[in-house]
Amino acid sequence: MRFCSSCGARIGLATPSGDDRERFVCTGCATVHYVNPKIVVGSVCTLGDRLLLCRRAIEPRVGYWTIPAGWMEVGETAEQGAIREAWEEACARIEIEGLIAVYSIPRIDQVQILYRARLLDADVAAGPESQEVRLVGWDEIPWDELAFPTVTWVLRRASELRGQEQWTTGFNPEPI
Ligand code: ZN
Repeated sequence: MRFCSSCGARIGLATPSGDDRERFVCTGCATVHYVNPKIVVGSVCTLGDRLLLCRRAIEPRVGYWTIPAGWMEVGETAEQGAIREAWEEACARIEIEGLIAVYSIPRIDQVQILYRARLLDADVAAGPESQEVRLVGWDEIPWDELAFPTVTWVLRRASELRGQEQWTTGFNPEPI
C-alpha cells in the first residue's frame, strides 16, 4: 500500500497512539489503513454416501481437486457465502448442516470457515471456475490430487466424523 485511498497522499508506516503495532498511516490525512485477514467460506457437500468435489479451472492449483469454497463477500453471512460458492462452482443447491472447521493460515492472512452441507439433489455441473465436478465415494477421494492442505484437513475430518449424528468443530490440526 503506497497511496491513501481517501486523499491520494503517500502512505507511511507508524504506530498510532494507543496501538501496539505498526500500521499503514496516511501522511496527508492521517487515516489508518488497517489490514486484516480475509475470509474463505466453503463446504463439504454430501448426498447419501457421496461427496462433491470440483476440479479447479483457475490458478492456483489448476487441475487439482477441491471442495466448493471461495472469498466471502461483503453483505452476506458466512453460510450464505458457502451456499453461493457451491452454486457458482458446481451449480449445486445445498443446505448447510453445521460447522466442520475453522482454519487460520497466518502465513497468507486467511481464515477458512468450512461447513458440512447436504446436496438437495444430484443435479451438479461445472461452473466457470471448475473443469469438472464429481460426486465421489469416501473411498474414492483423490488424496494425492487435492488442491490445498486445508482441503485435505477438512476431508480427513469429515471422513472421520461421517456417520456421527453430532459433528464437533475442528481447528488447525498442525501449524501452517
Ligand atoms: Zn489520506
